[in-house]
Parts: sequence; C-alpha cells; structure tokens
Amino acid sequence: MKKLAVILTILCILLVAIYFLIFKPEKYVEKDLYDTILERGVIKVGINTDSKPFGFFDKNWEIKGYDADLARYIAQYLLKSPNAVEFYPVTPANRMLKVSTGEVDIVIATMTITPQRREVIDFSVPYDAAGQALLVRSSSKIKSIADLDKQNVGVVFGTTAEKNMLNLAPEANIIGFRNYRTAYQALKNGKIDALTSDDTILSRFVYEDKSVKLLPKRYTKEPYGIALKKGASTRRLKENIDFAIKDMQRKNVILRIRRKWLNGAY
Ligand code: GLU
Repeated sequence: MKKLAVILTILCILLVAIYFLIFKPEKYVEKDLYDTILERGVIKVGINTDSKPFGFFDKNWEIKGYDADLARYIAQYLLKSPNAVEFYPVTPANRMLKVSTGEVDIVIATMTITPQRREVIDFSVPYDAAGQALLVRSSSKIKSIADLDKQNVGVVFGTTAEKNMLNLAPEANIIGFRNYRTAYQALKNGKIDALTSDDTILSRFVYEDKSVKLLPKRYTKEPYGIALKKGASTRRLKENIDFAIKDMQRKNVILRIRRKWLNGAY
C-alpha cells in the first residue's frame, strides 16, 4: 500500500513536470512587454508631477515638462503617435516599485542610473545628466558641503541625494520630505538650512525666487535613464527605447528639449 502511494506521488510529479515542459502555461512565461504595449496602443509612463521643469501640472492640469516631451517622442518611435502615452504620477520613493510591479511600463522621472538601482530594475542608455547641488537662502553663510555640520539639510525621500548625504556630510541633520514643494517651503521658513538634490531640479527655484541661491559646486554625477522592469520581458522594449534615445541624440532632439525646458522660461 505504502509502495503504491510512493509510486502514485512520483507519477503525479512527473505528469505535472511534463505538462509544464510541453505546454508552458501562459502565466509562467512572462509576456513580452513591447508586444503588450503594441497591442494596447499606448505606453504607461510614470512621471514626477512636482518637479518643474521635468514633470509638472500646467494651469490646465496637463502634465508638461522635459520628461513629458521625452515620453511623447518615445511614443512616436514605439507607437507612431506622440499622443499614445498615459501618464501616471510617481514619486522618487515609489517609482522603483511601480515599474517593477508593472503598474507602469517605464518611468521617465529625472532618475539617476546607479549600480544599486540596477540590481532591482533596468535602465535605458543615459539621455541626460545632472549633478548634486545645494540650494540655500540668499542670505545664508553656507558656502559648500563642508559648512553643513549640525545644520538641517532637506532631501526628498528616495532620491540619490538622500543616500549620498550619509557620505558627503555625515554630521548634518538630514530631514526627509515627500516632495520638492514641501522641502522648498521648509527652506523658505527656516526649518532647514539647505536643500540638496540635482542642480537641474533645484535651478527652477532660483529662476522663480531670488531669495534663494544655488551654490556652484557639484558633488556627484547623475546620469538620467528611463527605468524598466528587470528581466527578459522588457529586453525588446529596452532595445527600442535605446535606439530612440540614440537617434534623438544624433538628431539633436534631446538638445532641443533641454533648451526648451532648462532655460528658466516656462
Ligand atoms: N536624480 C535623482 C534621483 O534619481 C533625483 C530625482 C528626483 O528627484 O526625481 O534620485
């Protein structure tokens, strides 16, 4: 009797294994994301919405900016229409999760390519680059990162700046914010003495408000990439996006987007 049970169990396992080998049930083979996007006819793009001039709501509540323009060009390459895009707001703290769970197909959000992030998600080739900088009040005595000991320094949760500060200024009091708007308010009302992030992102505050200044030194290199889910299902999508970025770079399209948005006139 016992023998029979053992034989039956082995037989069952064998049958299941053969079933998986021959039929490869759909849900165990992840579908190619590029095919899904082509079938759907629209690409879901995660984008920052409080990060002028990269991703923000204009007065008609439409998402505009450098990253939005880039998304429309990518849609033109992949789907032959700049309007084949659906934008989904993301934050620096949740965008890795949103792209790896498939809630969005890609993230275009001033996202720095780093080796740590590469362990979890994939990136396109870089399309631009920034450097970490310090924004302070115009009257501030802070001149560089060396003056930050015991000072309150604001970072946005989930950014590279948040991580880098542990090495760059270990004696500073780091205060995290959910977004740039609240971090900036804190700088204005004295709750923090400096705000640190990419120069490209912080510059906008200087254009809008002369009571703050951006210090000249840059502390890191932040190459921006389009984020994708890691794995075989996004390989073709990545190849096509990389091709699009390189082609746009060759044709100076990215340069034009950069000039349009990073000159302070928006
Ligand atoms: N480039 C920085 C990062 O990837 C800042 C991005 C952001 O604030 O969206 O963390």
